[in-house]
Amino acid sequence: MENCIFCKIVNREIPSTRIYEDRRIIAIKDLSPQAPVHVLFIPKDHIPSADNLDESNSDIVAHVFSVIPRVAAELGLRNGYRIINNCGEDGGQTVKHLHFHLLGGKKLDEKIV
Ligand code: AMP
Ligand code: ZN
Repeated sequence: MENCIFCKIVNREIPSTRIYEDRRIIAIKDLSPQAPVHVLFIPKDHIPSADNLDESNSDIVAHVFSVIPRVAAELGLRNGYRIINNCGEDGGQTVKHLHFHLLGGKKLDEKIV
């Protein structure tokens, strides 16, 4: 997708620190980490947001969630972590390409709003 920053990262037109990749997704370090570990799981296909998921494409979410425990273990997140998806304007989504934040490495604030 033209002018989509995460599509450009997937296509290596913009550099990133990749910590995981397979046929369908990449995981990169967030540029502005909000916790000691802050990784973004990004499907290679351009899906604008979680609001654009349906029966035809939602299997990617299961795939992301099947990879997260492995990556979390490799990153040493033995005490737990938080997975966040921001969706749309009110959800605080700034990059309009579906992604999931993995946050951890410290005791996170219990409040999420
Ligand atoms: P969201 O607000 O949920 O859309 O999250 C977008 C995230 O992408 C933010 O946490 C940004 O810090 C992160 N981000 C934006 N540009 C880049 C980039 N070039 N490389 C890595 N992370 C980025
Ligand atoms: Zn995109």
